Amino acid sequence: MYGKFQKHLQDTLAGIEADGLYKHERNIVSAQGAEITLQDGSKALNFCANNYLGLADSPRLIEAAKKAMDERGYGMSSVRFICGTQDRHRELEKAVADYFKTDDAILYAACFDANGGVFEPLLGPEDAIISDSLNHASIIDGVRLCKAKRFRYANADMADLERCLQEARECRFRIIATDGVFSMDGNVAPMDKICDLAEKYDALVMVDESHSAGVVGKTGHGVAEQFDCYGRIDIFTGTLGKAFGGAVGGFTTGRQEIIDLLRQRSRPYLFSNSLPPMIVGAGIEMFKMLKESNALHDKQQENVVYFRDKMMAAGFDIKPTQSAICAVMLYDARLSQEFAAKMAEEGIFVTGFYYPVVPQGQARIRVQLSAAHEKEHLDRAIAAFVKVGKEMGVIK
Ligand SMILES: *Cc1c(COP(=O)(O)O)cnc(C)c1O
Repeated sequence: MYGKFQKHLQDTLAGIEADGLYKHERNIVSAQGAEITLQDGSKALNFCANNYLGLADSPRLIEAAKKAMDERGYGMSSVRFICGTQDRHRELEKAVADYFKTDDAILYAACFDANGGVFEPLLGPEDAIISDSLNHASIIDGVRLCKAKRFRYANADMADLERCLQEARECRFRIIATDGVFSMDGNVAPMDKICDLAEKYDALVMVDESHSAGVVGKTGHGVAEQFDCYGRIDIFTGTLGKAFGGAVGGFTTGRQEIIDLLRQRSRPYLFSNSLPPMIVGAGIEMFKMLKESNALHDKQQENVVYFRDKMMAAGFDIKPTQSAICAVMLYDARLSQEFAAKMAEEGIFVTGFYYPVVPQGQARIRVQLSAAHEKEHLDRAIAAFVKVGKEMGVIK
């Protein structure tokens, strides 16, 4: 049997390659950070990690992970409700809830699982999920797993959201689901307006804080802080894999009964292993760090402003950003790929995105700024952008 199937797979793979969509992975032989070492021994400055607070190689988190492993072992060998809950899991859940000022939280192996398991236990066929068109793949999959009716509104478009809310008027319950920060433009969901509409049409609100937590808001506490929406958002999901240390792990946090029911019914929670002690220990330490000081968040924001201003002064077309994501617009797909390749030759890692990841004719280079970057790193990246930009006729 495999022969025919093999041919089919080979053709599919060749098609991906021919479309220029084949994803080639680079091997890094150092820890994740502002500067990374590649397999050929060369070094590069990294501007495409979600390492927003620069914690991926934090000595304090590494120490906390080691200590947790010494004290509580390597693995849990169980799901939470059988024998996979240590006191530390609850401690981390309380730290998450404390950070987002919510009632309680529940941990998952990843935010992909948090989103995959959040809708199905809470809503049925008589309900409606109203989802932003640019929501992350994991929200889309979570919605697919739920029997509720589906509505989709144009990205951050409040008139279109209102249209959906009107269409869903007859449903028993309605929930609006949105990313906090959209990863391609770096724009923030207008949570104050979303909450206003939710109140007007009697809907719940769910936000995925993966790219916004640790980044947006005066002290980096996410969209509720940014828009002063505390108490108006029912469900937050998020990841420990981006600003919050960059390892793995996800969570859902929000109102008590919601978290309680997820603990009873959410399938990725019930049927997948507990987070290991090292992740939990480092996670607790990470929230302690963020409580002690806002320095990392402030540095990250300063880096965004510095980079954006210098790039605009150099003549680049930058999307307005309120996050750590800076989209350098090139519009042409091929140009975006060639530009990114030339940047890599200059020792700067950035990602070129084009259709279908972004709309047709909206190709760009995405730059992700981090507290790990020093001014010298930013200056080197900007100099490389200017050099390549002039070579390719993007700027004068
Ligand atoms: C990265 C991301 C996820 C997935 O997080 P993991 O913890 O890596 O599974 C989910 N939602 C959004 C919006 C993301 O950006």
